[in-house]
Order: sequence, then C-alpha cells, then structure tokens
Amino acid sequence: MNIHEYQAKALLKSYGAPVAEGVAILKADEAEAAAKSLPGPLYVVKSQIHAGGRGKGKFKELPPEAKGGVRLAKSVEEVVSNVKDMLGNTLVTAQTGEAGKQVNRLYIEDGADIDRELYCSLLVDRSIGRVAFVVSTEGGMDIEAVAHDTPEKILTIGIDPEAGVTAADVQKISGALKLDGAAAEDAKSLFPILYKAFNEKDMSLLEINPLIVMKNGHLRVLDAKVSFDGNALFRHDDVRALRDETEEDTKEIEASKWDLAYVALDGNIGCMVNGAGLAMATMDIIKLYGKEPANFCDVGGGAGKEKVAAAFKIITADPKVEGILVNIFGGIMRCDVIAEGVIAAVKEVGLKVPLVVRLEGTNVELGKKILNESGLAITAADDLDDAAKKIVAAING
Ligand code: GDP
Ligand code: MG
Repeated sequence: MNIHEYQAKALLKSYGAPVAEGVAILKADEAEAAAKSLPGPLYVVKSQIHAGGRGKGKFKELPPEAKGGVRLAKSVEEVVSNVKDMLGNTLVTAQTGEAGKQVNRLYIEDGADIDRELYCSLLVDRSIGRVAFVVSTEGGMDIEAVAHDTPEKILTIGIDPEAGVTAADVQKISGALKLDGAAAEDAKSLFPILYKAFNEKDMSLLEINPLIVMKNGHLRVLDAKVSFDGNALFRHDDVRALRDETEEDTKEIEASKWDLAYVALDGNIGCMVNGAGLAMATMDIIKLYGKEPANFCDVGGGAGKEKVAAAFKIITADPKVEGILVNIFGGIMRCDVIAEGVIAAVKEVGLKVPLVVRLEGTNVELGKKILNESGLAITAADDLDDAAKKIVAAING
C-alpha cells in the first residue's frame, strides 16, 4: 500500500525527522490560509498523487510550456494562482503512464534553500537478507539516469538487524553522501530514525529523493515516498487509515476486500488460478502459445463459492480480457466449489468472452459435472497444455 508524500512526511516527522512545515489542501479556496500559515517567503506547491516524477510532469489540460507538478512560489498570491492552475487537472509523469493522474490534493510547503540534492532510500535487500540504505550524492529528479549511466555512484549499505544502525553505519552512509558539519551531525539522528520508522511500520520502501543539504548546512527530507508491506497492514490501524482508494485500481481494491491476490498485466487472457506457482506456470504456458495474460487472480487455498465468484467478476471487469482461463488444482480447494463459484458469477454478470476451464484434484468429477450441466458455453480442458492451446485458439477465432 502506498501513501501520499504529505502523509509520509507527517509520519517521518512523528519519528523526529527534519521536514518542512506544510498544509495539505483539497480545495482552491483553502490555498490562501494555508500559505499564510507558513513562514515564507519561499513556498512550494506540490501535487499529491501516488506517482513520482511530478516535478518534470506535464498537465494534460495546460499548454506544454506550463510548469510541472511541483512549483516554487515567492508570495501568497503566487501560491494561490498556482493552486488554481493545478488542482483538478491531470498530471502525466514518467511513472503515471499516458493516462496520467488527476490531482485532487495539493501540499503547500515552506520552501527550502537547497545546497545539494542527495538520494537516500531504505528497502529490503533480498540478496543480503537485510534492510539496506541505498544512497547517492546524485539525488534529485534524474536518479533513474544515474542508476543507468553511472551505477557506481549508488551505494548500498546493509544493516545488521541485531545491531540496528550503528555509529559505524552512520559514518559509512554519511561518507557516501559526503556529509560534513551540521549535516553530518543531523545524520547521526536521521539515519537511525529512518531505520526505526521503516521497521516499526513494516515499510517495504522508504525513498527520500531528494534528501537535501540546505544552505544553512542542515539536512531536510524534501520528498518522501513510502510503500507498506500489505501482509503486515492488519497490525497498523494508523497506516490503513492513510489509504487513498481514489489512487488505486478499483479492481485491486475489490480484490483486497476479498483477500484475493490480483495482479493486472498487459495482455488479453484473464487467469483464475490457485497458488502462486500455478499462476506462474499458467502465465508461462500462455506466453508459450503466443499470447499474454491480462491479469491473474489467485483464489488461494480454502476459498468459498462467494470468493470464487468475486474473483471471476474482477477478472471479467477488465475490458482488455478477450478470454478467460480457469486453471485450478484442487488440493485443499475443492473443484466443485470452483465450479459453483464460476457459475454464480456468470449468472450475475454474463459471459461475453470464451471461457476455458481446467480442473484437477479433489472432487474433480463433481466439478466437471456441475459445469457440464450448467448449460454455459464452457470449454473443458484436460491438462495445462490443452487448456492454454484452447484459450489461445478461441481468442484467435
Ligand atoms: P518529484 O519530481 O515527484 O520527485 O518531486 P520532488 O518533491 O522531489 O520535487 C522535485 C524538485 O523540486 C526537487 O528535486 C527540487 O529540485 C525542487 N523542489 C522541491 N521542493 C523545493 C524547495 O523547497 N525549494 C527548492 N528550491 N526546490 C524545491
Ligand atoms: Mg522526488
């Protein structure tokens, strides 16, 4: 689960990290009061969407020469005019895709005088089995280019979970970022704070780009992107409360309500499977026969009829889906439950595309019988290979 920049900053601030004062607004008429509550004379107006690259982004509704999704303002009036210009419009950035994202919230922040822009993130580094700091002196809006062209300028420092962030770790990170004076002093508290927040809140990513050294020599968190581990959300009521469903794929929200693992992809075959391994195998074999999966929905182990029906409806709701492959191995899951769930969903939403079903395992004969007697236009398949061939053939017409 992702949150907005202003929410991430409030969270980091509660841990003691240095962030600027700021006010989030939803309506243009809140802009003046928000700006007046800040010290000035420099302000920043920042689009709040769940995507990066806002500074270099472009608004669809504005002329190409108009400024991007992060704008500096030198007076309260300038803040207000920028807010009017940005709010409600669609921002297209390198991360939003062509459709862009509508900007429904703006964050008005006290502006900083920047000396240097650094990169600092924390993530779970699977290769070393630790949380690691990934840092670079080349922060700001072109970190992707740095990673591509000069990867040696990005350093990874893994943290021993027993010891936490030690003084030696801080020294390594500060050294990599070439911090000295007040910034090096700030670093002694900041890096342990970031690590603590990351662990306590079960984050999967904490990216600060840029972390800045200000003209006065101190550090400040200028941008913040946080993703949380979805499997740990149940123990963080405060984090779940930050969810902004308007930023998420409606199908993914629906799937998460049913505790289904749903992943949207780019092709045109919808896949209902049980288990991650079977999902991978199903997608591989679809590709082998020359097509691409549009999505997969993993109904897991002990799903009931309602959950199976919900999964089927989520898959068919995707307009890209030209055919559906149901591939279930009934271990704990029973094939008759799958059959009943599919039939219930089809009765409700209809079936406009070809459907191939491959069932194997517990109660397979009963499952097949239920499907055969349903009168629905379902193509039965004997095995994985047969199923993939049949759905690809059905789509190719
Ligand atoms: P992003 O483009 O979505 O990553 O948004 P950021 O929050 O990183 O802002 C983009 C850029 O705007 C930063 O890299 C800075 O160069 C600039 N910027 C943001 N806030 C300030 C500020 O307070 N003062 C100054 N001078 N520049 C800022
Ligand atoms: Mg940024």
